[in-house]
Amino acid sequence: MRIDVVSAVPKIILAPLNESIVKRAREKKIIEIHVHDLRDYAKGKYRQIDDKPFGGGAGMVLKPEPVFMCVEKLLSEREYDNIIYLTPQGKKLNQKKVNALSLNENIILICGHYKGIDQRIIDTFVTMEISIGDYVLSGGEIPALVLIDGITRLLPGALGDSEAALTDSFQTESGFDAPQYTRPAEYRDMKVPDVLLQGNHSKIKKWRSDEGSKKYKRIKKKKLNNI
Ligand code: SAH
Repeated sequence: MRIDVVSAVPKIILAPLNESIVKRAREKKIIEIHVHDLRDYAKGKYRQIDDKPFGGGAGMVLKPEPVFMCVEKLLSEREYDNIIYLTPQGKKLNQKKVNALSLNENIILICGHYKGIDQRIIDTFVTMEISIGDYVLSGGEIPALVLIDGITRLLPGALGDSEAALTDSFQTESGFDAPQYTRPAEYRDMKVPDVLLQGNHSKIKKWRSDEGSKKYKRIKKKKLNNI
């Protein structure tokens, strides 16, 4: 899979892509990620990428030209399954959407900044608007990282056995992953549940599924009651 990220502040993205699971997946060529600096596509002495909004008001808006240049260059090189704009106005991201996007071959992620991006970019290119939640961040870079991380860990070979994604929360029937414990078996009078120490795998499987679904139901009830 290939992901191209279009950003006004690529530095925010680069460091996390070079750590942990995403770094390993890139090294193993399971995922290819390219971050494009909008300034490289801007013209003029000052390489301006943003400007004041027409009609007045606070904030700056990312100009259309650099984004058009960058996205059109990418489109001339290969086909893309989706061109996604990260925005608080988009559809809220969930595991189902991450699963579906992990089956895409090539995607472009457009990160806004400041007040947002020129609407003509959205009208021309964007196939999907995605939000990571009902709150406003300063830029689309962190939401893009959220999406990239969620997708990468689903790609075959990205996780080792010990990290298998299929037993994670939202992927299992029970709803949530089970509570996890590691050594020591007793810490400050707190004991690890016996079932996990006894080595009976079918019992452990049932315990995990029961615990996962108990917590899921508890949390769901709270959410329904808006607590
Ligand atoms: N004026 C816009 C918010 C701009 S925030 C509005 O009120 O809708 C600046 C940029 O951060 C956005 O262009 C978007 O790319 C990104 N962003 C902020 N919050 C986000 C969220 N919850 N999900 C995804 N992207 C977000």
